[in-house]
Amino acid sequence: MESYGYAAPSSVAETVALLASSAEQGQATQILAGGTDVLVQMRSAGHQARTIIDIKSLAETNRLEVNADGIYIGAAIPSAVINETRALQEALPGLLEAADLIGSTQIQGRATICGNLCNASPAGDSIPAMIAAGAVCDIATSSGSRQVPVEDFLVGVGKNALAPGEFLLGLRLPMPSANTKDAYLRFTPRTEMDIAVAGVGVSLTVTDGLCTDARIAIGAVAPTAKLVSAAAEAILGTDLNEAAVHAAGEACKAAASPISDKRGTAEYRRKVVAVLCRRAIGVAKQRIQGS
Ligand SMILES: Cc1cc2nc3c(=O)[nH]c(=O)nc-3n(C[C@H](O)[C@H](O)[C@H](O)COP(=O)(O)OP(=O)(O)OC[C@H]3O[C@@H](n4cnc5c(N)ncnc54)[C@H](O)[C@@H]3O)c2cc1C
Repeated sequence: MESYGYAAPSSVAETVALLASSAEQGQATQILAGGTDVLVQMRSAGHQARTIIDIKSLAETNRLEVNADGIYIGAAIPSAVINETRALQEALPGLLEAADLIGSTQIQGRATICGNLCNASPAGDSIPAMIAAGAVCDIATSSGSRQVPVEDFLVGVGKNALAPGEFLLGLRLPMPSANTKDAYLRFTPRTEMDIAVAGVGVSLTVTDGLCTDARIAIGAVAPTAKLVSAAAEAILGTDLNEAAVHAAGEACKAAASPISDKRGTAEYRRKVVAVLCRRAIGVAKQRIQGS
């Protein structure tokens, strides 16, 4: 391993300035949140030296707000804290079940969902759930901040839309209405400590028995997690009958462009993503019905 530098700026402005000056001088940097990906990456052979910039002590990245105006989850908030926040358990059970699938209890004590997003693994568990919930990235820039929907933040395997000098401050999410619920389901060959073969995040609104709003996102079956508008359109205006839900699953299958690897063939992943979509719709529907 080559030598590494470490910095823990005390303000967002200082962090952005350090990122920008390092980029200008051609010096590599890497943001550190929970470190559960960063430390594994630092130990991998051939990883180049860089300055690790720790954002955990910034006030902005430690912001956690849940109120009628909306939800804010700062980039330093670990999954364990999210999962134990009562108001989030009620508002976003699907996002929390995704966060609860990241590694083990020990991993969740450090891992952040923003780190999961920035790492941009195709199989990142929290990402389809964030997209379904309508999360928007709050990005610190040299001129202030900019907002990017999560589905537009992912630009490739391991690649996100952050420009040099930028970092993710946190996520903004709308506060779901009483008749809106989300769900996330993934399939793995093992029950724990494994990465998804396929994952689906769903958020549904049901009004007077009809689906009046829906967002459905798929993960681990394409280079990035993605919003599948055709799946939502298949159930909008319906009473979530079997034919409509089946059509949503088929839309997820059509939107998938998976690889074949030791966890499963591309054909298998397409089948699984359709099944997960149907089941996740069922879970969200049950949550709305309060059962
Ligand atoms: C044993 C084990 C099991 C795991 N199981 C799962 C699993 O089941 N599902 C799953 O999805 N993941 C899993 N992971 C991967 C990892 O735990 C998650 O991706 C985690 O959410 C990363 O969060 P972090 O805060 O630790 O990120 P870090 O490791 O701190 O950062 C991850 C990446 O994002 C960048 N980054 C972090 N925060 C920011 C920011 N605010 N702005 C800009 N860039 C940023 C970092 O520079 C780095 O490139 C597992 C990891 C381990 C070690």
